[in-house]
Amino acid sequence: MSARIFNIISIVTVCAAAYWLPWYLFVLTVLFFISVLFFACINLSWNFFIPTLCKANTNDRVVALTFDDGPALYTSAILDTLKEYNTPAAFFCIGRNITGNEQLLQRIKDEGHIIGNHSYSHHFWFDMWSAAKMMDDMQQMNDETARITGLQPLLFRPPYGVINPKLAAAIKEKKYTSIGWSIRSFDTKIKDKEKLLFRIMTQVKPGGIILLHDSMEITAAILPDLIQQLRRKGYTITRADKMLNITAYA
Ligand SMILES: [Zn+2]
Repeated sequence: MSARIFNIISIVTVCAAAYWLPWYLFVLTVLFFISVLFFACINLSWNFFIPTLCKANTNDRVVALTFDDGPALYTSAILDTLKEYNTPAAFFCIGRNITGNEQLLQRIKDEGHIIGNHSYSHHFWFDMWSAAKMMDDMQQMNDETARITGLQPLLFRPPYGVINPKLAAAIKEKKYTSIGWSIRSFDTKIKDKEKLLFRIMTQVKPGGIILLHDSMEITAAILPDLIQQLRRKGYTITRADKMLNITAYA
């Protein structure tokens, strides 16, 4: 259901509830619609405000690795592993992390991976900003990337995995493709390597997009095992843009 149809249905229902139902049922009706909106904001795969690609529709045993929040402390180690295993990936970089890590960004490009936009600031209040302020922030990240690599990223991953009507408008206006994931590793929370690997491997399905972070030591540590276990299960690790058949740069 599109956000517009949902808005119309919710307004009509809430008005009807205000007219016909007792006050407590009216309050429940309002809370129900607010809850739906809340969950639509944190579930990119609902495609409620804007389509977000969270997996490829395929029965082939392919998956894509994606790394958020770099360039960071473990990007270099992750790039080493990817090179050793001849494995491509996508890096959704934070623009402000590029300063001082220019060589890492160039390495990501030179070694055949793609660079996506994960905002410039990754600001805590990003989702509270106006669409115009969000667009400035997104452009700043593209400018940083272009300054070093000459590339203009077209793939955008929403900070914190949250989307709302203003961000949807900004993504649309800037002509980005919104990219989510189907396998959330929780590598920023899980401390045990075996648990992390188990969590990822038990969720793997054809066409899956795996969310990882190159800011995490544990992610760099499990990556060789993750690649080997995926291969043992018959999976080919492919680049997200190729798997989704989309263009990564303007
Ligand atoms: Zn992030």
